[in-house]
Amino acid sequence: MSSIAQPTPAPFTGDDYATRMARVTHDAVGAGLDGVLVTPGPDLVWLTGYRPTAITERLTVLVLRPARQPTLVVPMLERPDAEAASGTAAVSFVDWADGTDPYLVAGSRLDPAGRYGISDSTWAMHLLGLQRQLPLSSYVSLTNGMPMLRAVKDARELARLAAAGAAADAVYEQIVQSPFAGRRELDVAAELAELLRRYGHEQVDFTVVGSGPNGADPHHEAGDRTIENGDTVVLDFGGLMFGYGSDTSRTISVGEPPPLVREVHSIVRQAQQAAVEAVRPGIACQQIDRVARSVISDAGYGQQFVHRTGHGIGVTTHEPPYIVEGEEQVLVPGMCFSIEPGIYLPGRFGIRIEDIVTVTDTGCRRLNNTGRDLRAVG
Ligand code: ZN
Ligand code: ZN
Ligand code: ZN
Repeated sequence: MSSIAQPTPAPFTGDDYATRMARVTHDAVGAGLDGVLVTPGPDLVWLTGYRPTAITERLTVLVLRPARQPTLVVPMLERPDAEAASGTAAVSFVDWADGTDPYLVAGSRLDPAGRYGISDSTWAMHLLGLQRQLPLSSYVSLTNGMPMLRAVKDARELARLAAAGAAADAVYEQIVQSPFAGRRELDVAAELAELLRRYGHEQVDFTVVGSGPNGADPHHEAGDRTIENGDTVVLDFGGLMFGYGSDTSRTISVGEPPPLVREVHSIVRQAQQAAVEAVRPGIACQQIDRVARSVISDAGYGQQFVHRTGHGIGVTTHEPPYIVEGEEQVLVPGMCFSIEPGIYLPGRFGIRIEDIVTVTDTGCRRLNNTGRDLRAVG
């Protein structure tokens, strides 16, 4: 089997990370905040390249304040790893030892009555610890309290997302060459994971294989069920490549599809196409969801489209912005998200078609480009 040798992109430099930290600090001031607090998770990875091996109860927090050097408060034993991360050259370090109070250490770097943006994935115990230390301080969500940190991707991030999408596409083209009938879902899922790695992913996040009635459960991953001739199979897989995500779905038919499967697939395909065509700068996220939903509702399946239309993707496979009713965030060139409408008929089958798109100046570009026909496999 040929493997796709995708050139490894040049790593982000200390300057790149410093620029991100400066931009976020600037945005925080613009939003009326005194700074930003970021604990381990995707925001910290994006800002510093630092990904602790385990996220623990010990407080680690990046403190960004205007006109101050970024400061990373870390447990003493984690300091060497944090210092070695690719984006922490411009960061000053403050460590704390077990047996001392980390909130006292972090709190002394903050304005006692300050208002801070804090990352969504911060453990409650850490936020409560800071509030106990600084009773007059206040906190807002980084996602809602200021412009989204990571939603708009730059050219180098887009190149990574495109590479991850192309690799996922190659996996799909490969998996449909193998027979499905007679194999268990788990075996197909294992092959998907192996192919994702072979085509360059360093991390596999999910490999959904929903055959027959299992496909009607959007949360089904893969199980013992043996795939039979006549089944419809939802495939939905992705992970990280060069630190950026892939996520694509196609639904296939084992043998010739029955008329109802053809009909439902065609509705989902039209909904997906209409939503993709609706993407352009200035449109609200919820509007994209409405476009997909109206196609499905008009066809009589509105109650069977049981999830939002999509989610953002970047250094994680699910992140803001969400393509969902109520999300008024306006699309901006460089945003990347999935468009993945589905119809689920309990006890029978499910259909989902998913591509990642990126917003351009005039519309959008798909990062997944495999055929969207209902493909019949062996
Ligand atoms: Zn997916
Ligand atoms: Zn998705
Ligand atoms: Zn999902």
